[in-house]
Amino acid sequence: MERTLILFKPDCVQRRLVGRILARFEDKGLNVVAMKMMRITPALAKQHYAEHVEKAWYPTLEGFITGGPVVAAILEGLEAIRVVREMLGATSGLKAAAGTIRGDFSSSRQMNLVHASDGPEAAAREIKLYFRDDEICASELTLRPWLRASDEN
Ligand code: ADP
Ligand code: MG
Repeated sequence: MERTLILFKPDCVQRRLVGRILARFEDKGLNVVAMKMMRITPALAKQHYAEHVEKAWYPTLEGFITGGPVVAAILEGLEAIRVVREMLGATSGLKAAAGTIRGDFSSSRQMNLVHASDGPEAAAREIKLYFRDDEICASELTLRPWLRASDEN
C-alpha cells in the first residue's frame, strides 16, 4: 500500500469543487486516511514548493496557494502515488487530457485545483509537512474484499 499527499488548492475550495473531486478519488477505491482544512502560510509554501522557490513565477504561486483555505488529505491505496497523479493529468489544465481532473475542470497552468505528491520521497516529505502521526486514521474498510482480490497487495 502507498500513501500520497493531496491538496485541494484554494481555487478548488472557492469553486466548491472539493466534494465532486473527492468523490472521484473515493470512486476509484482510494482510502482517505487523514483530512483537514487549513491555511498555508508563506513559510509552509516555501517548504512545500522548495524545488520552485527560485523560479521567476514562484511569487505568484505563493500568492495563489496562500490566498485562501485549502483542504489537505492523505490518500492510501495500491500504487496510489502514480494512480493519483494520472487522475490529475498534466500540470496545465489546457494541456491535461480530457477525463482527468485538471483536463475536465481547469483552464489554467497555475489554478489546476489539486496537488499530489510526484514520487515516494515527495510523498513521505509532504505527509510529514502537513500531518502529525496522530492525525492519520488508518483503518481497514469492510468494503475491501470487493475492491480487489485478496492476492493483490
Ligand atoms: P505539478 O503540480 O503538476 O507537479 P509543478 O511541480 O511543475 O506541477 O508546479 C507546481 C505548481 O505550480 C503547479 O501545480 C501550478 O499550480 C504552479 N505552476 C506551474 N507552472 C507554473 C507557471 N509557469 N506559472 C505559474 N504557476 C505555475
Ligand atoms: Mg510538481
